[in-house]
Amino acid sequence: MTTRSTGRPFRALWRAGCDFLYPPSCPLCDCPLERTGTAGGGDRLCEGCLDELRPDGRDSCARCGAPVGPYLNWSRGCHYCRNDRFAFESVVRFGVYDGALRNACLRMKHRHGVRLTLCLAGMLWNEAGRELRETNAAAVVAVPRYWMQALGRDHHAAETLAGALARRMNVPFRDDLLRKTRRTARQAVLTPNERRSNLRGAYSAELSEDLRGKTLLLVDDVLTTGSTAHQTAKALRKAGAGQVIAAVIARGLGL
Ligand SMILES: [Zn+2]
Ligand SMILES: [Zn+2]
Repeated sequence: MTTRSTGRPFRALWRAGCDFLYPPSCPLCDCPLERTGTAGGGDRLCEGCLDELRPDGRDSCARCGAPVGPYLNWSRGCHYCRNDRFAFESVVRFGVYDGALRNACLRMKHRHGVRLTLCLAGMLWNEAGRELRETNAAAVVAVPRYWMQALGRDHHAAETLAGALARRMNVPFRDDLLRKTRRTARQAVLTPNERRSNLRGAYSAELSEDLRGKTLLLVDDVLTTGSTAHQTAKALRKAGAGQVIAAVIARGLGL
């Protein structure tokens, strides 16, 4: 109690001092942000970037997150995913991996991309918070890196996103359930067929008793062919998850 009451003013003073020395800037375009009057610039984007990233409001395929026309029947998947079999149930996403959102997703992975990642997590929450809450997920899981790729790097976009969404959903972020068991080639440089075989058996999962049969929210930054989400969801299902719902910032439509 005492710690909390003396800690708050100190933290506020500390943030105000940091703001004075390092004025807040937009984590996407680096332009200076107007001071809001609250201590700490907060994790927010400038108006220009917010405008560019504004969602297009188009419907998306619940199964894979691709944009779909308003009058088409896509209850069994859209033309992007109709021939695919996924171990995840559905995809919740903020937008399509293109233009400003593609640029934001690339910058989010940078070593200093934590603030931008938190902003994008907030935007996904503003856009799809209700949908995410209605998943009734018991825990949030991030698509993991191979341990050697994590050495010396404290920021992994998928984990930062997963932690931010878990806090908003008020459920635990569990980084101990899913593991990548071997190094794999970069998905982006492979054909769709190569992507599928590249990741086969590359993930393993172990669930505690309380999560068996429950819904898990699986978070990654981008979903393109769905191979990564499929393989990770498959490992989680094999370990006893009831169902897996994927949440990403962007749905990539390229190969
Ligand atoms: Zn900006
Ligand atoms: Zn689809």
